[in-house]
Amino acid sequence: MLRFDILTLFPDFFSSPMNQGILMRAQNSGLIEVNVVNIRDFAPGKHRIVDDMPFGGGVGMVMKAEPVIRAIESRKQSGINGRVILLTPQGEKFQQEMARELSGWEQLILVCGRYEGVDERVRDHFVDDEISIGDYVLNGGEAAALVVVEAVSRLVPGVLGNEESARNDSFSQGLLDYPQYTRPRKLRGIPVPEILLSGHHQQIELWRKTEAIRRTWERRPEFLKQEELGEEERRILEEVKRTNR
Ligand code: SAM
Repeated sequence: MLRFDILTLFPDFFSSPMNQGILMRAQNSGLIEVNVVNIRDFAPGKHRIVDDMPFGGGVGMVMKAEPVIRAIESRKQSGINGRVILLTPQGEKFQQEMARELSGWEQLILVCGRYEGVDERVRDHFVDDEISIGDYVLNGGEAAALVVVEAVSRLVPGVLGNEESARNDSFSQGLLDYPQYTRPRKLRGIPVPEILLSGHHQQIELWRKTEAIRRTWERRPEFLKQEELGEEERRILEEVKRTNR
């Protein structure tokens, strides 16, 4: 069981996505738990103020440290192996390998920033990891936290049913996924590749591997590290390069 605690100023952001499809099923079957925590509940006073002006001046507001720290502390449990993760465009770029690593923990506390970000002292003293989902700036960490929850949950054993194996997903074997087709056989005159209708499993397997390698070579050649390829993959890659010239 992997427990996510999402700390946010916008808890309603998560109500729909957490109640759909695989994420909902995973929660219902007890494989993951998702708690959405309102940071504002940890702010003092009648007005529960969570932001303030930046020291040194400048535009925008900064999230105050104390409510965030208290929210983090409220979710930490002794004896549970967890990480406190700040979503920030300045963090390490989130990739499949990181998703796999995170899926092995018992608890992930995801801290969503807003405004100009969170008081730096939170990052310095109360956070284990900083994650960015890409080189662009979002309004808040919520969309990024959702990306992390989705990608990590898929890798928790049992979350995907048999028919939804992550085995062939892009990135899982260092290759992009092969192209997929479904009925009809002919769509507006465009047929599906004949081989997929042949029923010849070995040849289909080879075709899929070849297309995965072709796609990876065309779109993300940096994934194709010679030393990590098996003999068959290397041979297919040479063939792909030769026929594409
Ligand atoms: N001024 C901040 C900076 O340039 O680093 C950006 C603040 S952004 C408007 C508000 C919040 O959105 C951030 O604190 C962070 O939690 C979240 N955020 C924005 N872009 C992100 C990204 N690419 N990955 C993860 N979180 C992001």
